[in-house]
Amino acid sequence: MADSSKVIEILKAIGHCMAEHKEELTALDQPIGDSDHGINLSRGFEAVEKKLPELAGKDIGTILKTVGMTLVSTVGGASGPLYGSAYMKAGMALAGKNEMDQKDFLEMMKAASDAVMQRGKAVAGEATMLDAMLPALKAMEEADAAGASAKDMLDAGVQAAWAGTNHTKDLIATKGRASYVGERGLGHQDPGATSFSYMLETAARWKG
Ligand code: ADP
Ligand code: MG
Repeated sequence: MADSSKVIEILKAIGHCMAEHKEELTALDQPIGDSDHGINLSRGFEAVEKKLPELAGKDIGTILKTVGMTLVSTVGGASGPLYGSAYMKAGMALAGKNEMDQKDFLEMMKAASDAVMQRGKAVAGEATMLDAMLPALKAMEEADAAGASAKDMLDAGVQAAWAGTNHTKDLIATKGRASYVGERGLGHQDPGATSFSYMLETAARWKG
């Protein structure tokens, strides 16, 4: 499915995607947060891009762990430690591997969403990035169990991630800054669910 150099290219593409959607992610964070989600993630992934050249030739686990540590140290706000732990745990799941297959991808995604649940003390239905991550993971596990190709599995994940992101408009946030606005958050799409959907979409669409 992907070797270390492809993973590095995808991470670069994810960074560019975050920069491209910086204003949109920040605008989504305005009514229910503090207008910094896009700024936070572009800053974090700019730092990641600077680290990528020195990661060439390293195993996928090391690459992802370094991305996580870089996000933790450069991104303020909730999303730094959350995405940071997600990438670090994803890296631990793929420790020592130079190639990732379909099952590895699922294990990596499971480790990432478990990390966010643990770190954020959150579950499904609280209007966070988990409402994109968990449906995406479930859809991909189901597609894989039904014998789908990597491409079809990823497409199913992307579709479920965006559906979950859209559904955050109908949820009252009970975690993070958005919980401060309570019911006034209804009708607003969660920025973290949106950024996760863009990340998965970038990985799924990456053609090299
Ligand atoms: P901050 O809220 O500190 O300004 P960001 O704006 O960068 O940080 O990120 C906000 C996003 O982080 C939210 O849209 C939500 O998806 C996610 N988030 C916040 N708190 C939690 C939590 N406890 N668990 C899971 N995700 C969370
Ligand atoms: Mg914010």
